[in-house]
Amino acid sequence: MYSRRHMAKRIAILGSTGSIGTNALEVIEHLGDGYQVTALSAHRQSAKLLEQVRRHKPTAVAVTDDREVEQISTALRGSGVTVYSGKRALEDLVCRDDVDTVLAAIVGAAGLPAVLAAVRSGKSLALANKEALVVAGSLLIPEARERGVSILPVDSEHSAIFQAAQCGRTNEIKRVILTASGGPFRNRPLQDIERATLADALNHPTWRMGNKITIDSATMFNKVLEFIEACWLFDLPPEKIDIVVHPESVVHSMVEFIDGSVLAQLSPPDMRTPIQYALTYPQRVDGISRKLDLSKHLTLNFYPPDYERFPALKLAREVARRGGTCGAVLNAANEAAVAAFAAGKITFGGITRTVRHTIEAHLVQAHPTLDVLSEADRWARATADRYIVEGAAGATKDCN
Ligand code: MG
Repeated sequence: MYSRRHMAKRIAILGSTGSIGTNALEVIEHLGDGYQVTALSAHRQSAKLLEQVRRHKPTAVAVTDDREVEQISTALRGSGVTVYSGKRALEDLVCRDDVDTVLAAIVGAAGLPAVLAAVRSGKSLALANKEALVVAGSLLIPEARERGVSILPVDSEHSAIFQAAQCGRTNEIKRVILTASGGPFRNRPLQDIERATLADALNHPTWRMGNKITIDSATMFNKVLEFIEACWLFDLPPEKIDIVVHPESVVHSMVEFIDGSVLAQLSPPDMRTPIQYALTYPQRVDGISRKLDLSKHLTLNFYPPDYERFPALKLAREVARRGGTCGAVLNAANEAAVAAFAAGKITFGGITRTVRHTIEAHLVQAHPTLDVLSEADRWARATADRYIVEGAAGATKDCN
């Protein structure tokens, strides 16, 4: 028993109560012997975390919202489960000896320190936290290479690119074609998008995900983040990445090789497929996710992106080209703008205007340290908030 447990891949899930986290737990349970959850982290969903602890029996948990620590500690007293809290909770959790692989599924820049700690302690990384690469790809990628740490993509598009790219060499890739569903506003009359409500933005046609990423899908900032993520993960210049709108979310992305062959990965929109591949790579095993049913009529559509409808998309190449601190500024301004939109302070259209304003006001530093990136993040949030408070983003009261 001991040796079998020890041979298992021991996994820490950061953000276990979120959408990716809960899907990952389902996948690991399905995979059975050979995969073991040893560490979980949650922000404030204590009840859900405790339920997960009872079912999956990790040896340690981390709680990042201080108000929840006492409840978790009390509930787990005498259970043998170590509880981490405070500023370094996530970093301490991922560095544990009984963690081999870290599945990073925390949303936003908040997930970055733990991702960096995982890379620095030589853990394999299954990366769902795209913001970590957008903000700090210039630090993370060289460190991972230096230490021989593998970063396996969990994002469905990047998993697809990763899988298709295995059919050729890196220098044989002509371009990567990143697919985007188009979100809930793909067909909405243009004049209605500016004042779209939170409920409208959260009504994604194909994917069920957390609120932040669903709003990012509606603005298409999710695709902008993924564009920059792809540059880092696959060592591609921005000129070699194109975006195409594909409403069915069945083709998760494509790789075009220099001979003209285009390879794609297809599966129904179900995050358990890319999560499982990131955990079992280089093996493939029977999956629990939904399978593509070709016994029924299936139409796949592809459209060029509409930049008037999705002005955020214009920022993808620009930010990737400018590099340095620009990714951190884009991400922080977007996080601030999405929070302001969710709180009813700005219109939906104001999100993109706020991010653009912040990027245009920023002086890029080319080779930032982590401190410089943190400062750029703080500056961007303050600049975005000022723009919002001044009403320049498009305050909601002006629209009523
Ligand atoms: Mg994605």
